Amino acid sequence: MNGRLKCLGTLLLAIALVPALEAQAVAPLAATPRVVVSIKPLHSLAAGVMAGVAEPEVLIKGGGSLHGYALRPSEARALSRADLVFWVGPVLETFMERPLAALAGKARVVAMIAMPGVKVQPSREGGLWEDGLRKDAGEPLRHGDGVDGHIWLDPGNAAAIVAGMAEALGAFDQSNAGRYRENAAAMQAKLSALDGELRAKLARVKEKPFVVFHDAYQYFEASYGLRAVGSITLSPDRAPGAGRVAEVKRKIAGLGPVCVFSEPQFQPRIVEMLIRGTAAKTGMLDPEGTTIGPGAELYFDVARGLAASLVACLTAGP
Ligand SMILES: [Zn+2]
Repeated sequence: MNGRLKCLGTLLLAIALVPALEAQAVAPLAATPRVVVSIKPLHSLAAGVMAGVAEPEVLIKGGGSLHGYALRPSEARALSRADLVFWVGPVLETFMERPLAALAGKARVVAMIAMPGVKVQPSREGGLWEDGLRKDAGEPLRHGDGVDGHIWLDPGNAAAIVAGMAEALGAFDQSNAGRYRENAAAMQAKLSALDGELRAKLARVKEKPFVVFHDAYQYFEASYGLRAVGSITLSPDRAPGAGRVAEVKRKIAGLGPVCVFSEPQFQPRIVEMLIRGTAAKTGMLDPEGTTIGPGAELYFDVARGLAASLVACLTAGP
């Protein structure tokens, strides 16, 4: 475990230092920067930090899965016009790596996974968790490379991300730096209230086992003492094989009544097939806000939506 964490540290340092993705010599502009944010939950946090100054643009507006995503021409154009880009990092949005490398020198690109105070978890392995493929240190991390990229689902991480965004924005747009900082502080207070609310709400489903569609919830589970026991797919863009389906079925039968959660961007058919003939129930989790309109409230709606779905399914009668 120790060696693994050390390896993780080295890899994270490698991301923070990827030179092609971090434009060094971008001079601050007088105008407010054109900010493009990769995914809706991060965009929501950025919208809060930029409130009253400008609207950031979200790159992936929803619909498909982030994993195995390919940028549309209109999205690539939006990215090419950006002054400042916020993303989790190559561990999550692999589809942005090449377009961002092409942007080098034109935009400042900030990876949220490398922000001070963001706690990063290794990918889960073994049992019903996918085995991460690891790269040599120095290579950029990609999905499944041993680091879990769903960092925003820890409200503490969200608070650190908001601070990092305010800092990056203020460096770019000094005339509004104070405003960004104040907004970030207001967002952090809101996140802290959300955290307390979720903690109270989720206390009653602590330790109740459930199965998730893909391994996106580790940060949320760690924050609130939840007990996901496995995921259905090894990778969200690949259908599980017969062997894995049998393994998940065995797990569901062995644990007794559990909830098996689908996600809006994936077919629920596989979930229905898995629970047929068992006492398991189903629910829906939307970790990326694919069903919610973008904006500063989306982050809070995503988190409350997860909590509501978990409580509804895990406390339902037989
Ligand atoms: Zn995911």
